[in-house]
Amino acid sequence: WKNAPPNLRAIALLGQSHGAREFVIYEDERMTYDAWFRAVARLAHEFQARGVKKGDRVALAMRNLPEWPVVFFAAVTIGAICVPLNAWWTGDELAFGLSNSGTKLLVCDEERWDRLKDRRNDFSCVNHTFVTRAEHPLNGADTLESVIGTPKQYASLPETTLPDVDILPEDDATIFYTSGTTGRPKGALGTHRNLCTNILSSGYNAGCAVLRRGEPLPEPQPKTGLTVIPLFHVTACSAGLMGNIAAGNTMVYMYKWDPVEAFKIIEREKVSSTGGVPTIAWQLLEHPERKNYDLSSIEAIAYGGAPAAPELVRKIREVFGALPGNGWGMTETMATVTGHSSEDYLNRPDSCGPPVAVADLKIMSEDGSRELPTGEIGELWARGPMVVKGYWNNPEAAAETFVDGWVKTGDLARLDEEGWCYIADRAKDMIIRGGENIYSSEVENVLYDHPAVTDAALIGLPHQQLGEEPAAVVHLAPGMQASEAELQEWVAERLAKFKVPVRIAFTPDTLPRNANGKILKKELSSFFET
Ligand code: ATP
Ligand code: MG
Repeated sequence: WKNAPPNLRAIALLGQSHGAREFVIYEDERMTYDAWFRAVARLAHEFQARGVKKGDRVALAMRNLPEWPVVFFAAVTIGAICVPLNAWWTGDELAFGLSNSGTKLLVCDEERWDRLKDRRNDFSCVNHTFVTRAEHPLNGADTLESVIGTPKQYASLPETTLPDVDILPEDDATIFYTSGTTGRPKGALGTHRNLCTNILSSGYNAGCAVLRRGEPLPEPQPKTGLTVIPLFHVTACSAGLMGNIAAGNTMVYMYKWDPVEAFKIIEREKVSSTGGVPTIAWQLLEHPERKNYDLSSIEAIAYGGAPAAPELVRKIREVFGALPGNGWGMTETMATVTGHSSEDYLNRPDSCGPPVAVADLKIMSEDGSRELPTGEIGELWARGPMVVKGYWNNPEAAAETFVDGWVKTGDLARLDEEGWCYIADRAKDMIIRGGENIYSSEVENVLYDHPAVTDAALIGLPHQQLGEEPAAVVHLAPGMQASEAELQEWVAERLAKFKVPVRIAFTPDTLPRNANGKILKKELSSFFET
């Protein structure tokens, strides 16, 4: 497979060659690679019969079901552009995704179909919809089962080949929407090459392998990984799914994240890797029921997508004896750009690693006019075969973000002497207090270090003279105590005075996050309304 051409048909065919190996386990369903390939090939022919051509958009709106990778590959292997929609989206947001992408055919689960109830007349793709696992009449849509049966039946589908379509590495393959943390989600237009790049740079050995410049590619050793983050995000699809197929790994899917359910699965299936986003790792570590399960099979817990407290890496090593891993990436880079694990990460717990073998990084001044010297904080720019062509149907945003093959990430970061990257904040979240810059991560990490704090976020509150002042929202570990004054003193002992939060609010819940594990900072100012 090392010489496989960089398009997703080659990945699908790899799946075929893994044959009887288990591909996905979901509740009491177990699907082999061969069964998956049969369903993909059959659905691909059906899509063609429905008039789907190269470049047409096929939207995919469902939670993590075994059907997800079937639909995804049926679309991309005939050259259609697969548009995974966020399953957390409301009816209006789903409608935005369908209209923004100009979707021709939709495949969804019943919950998503229900959410679109009042808007179905707005879209022509509604006449070409397949719904999976439907329990009620569908009002015009077909069931996915009418084409490929249920996942349990895929193994008995007649053997068939993929439709013959010529696909080049630079052909469009996907539109993944950004998380919408800083504004309306943007559709990143990914090519076959963008997705395939991730097989080489991450994920392919059950989560933790990151290929460095000059290093040979290790031989894949098939393992079982638990996928707990949504497939509609690049981390789970591009870094996870693609790498897992290349290595012939077995994936276990959960429709909905639940730590105790995860413990049961890890014990039963002897799962060797999991993770995705830092919150998931924290929940695995801190859940009181963890001790009731045998989790000794866990070898790696890797994550990215959001800032991770430095303490997390040590805890993972201590509690699970597992390899911790952290990677940085964005939808515009189809996942991984930097990453490290193991001793590298333990030695630099506040870093997200050096760039993967095929990526370049640089730190630029705010106005983008000059490159900053090593160690200085500025905007992180990234380049490499993982960077997407642009945004679908959003040329203004694309012109601002993509410059001469580089993506301007909107993140503020610094690089150390050896090229390791440290994310300081999102440019949009940085707080400027009377002309002094305050980077969220620095203050949040100090708060995390306090024994009582398990979740923390820094935001700026408007201030007449200073412009902004820092304030924090924290969540304390069960049974632990800390006062506002105590935490302020804790920060004051460790950081310059202007960085100390002027107010600290406590929440009995963990902080609000979106489907991709990112704190919704916009929602936090309500903690300080009086
Ligand atoms: P939008 O672009 O719509 O505002 P978003 O930037 O949250 O949303 P994504 O593409 O899902 O959408 O997320 C990419 C961002 O996630 C990065 O720009 C960075 O801020 C953050 N991120 C990713 N990995 C890490 C990491 N390892 N450490 C810190 N932050 C990370
Ligand atoms: Mg972004």
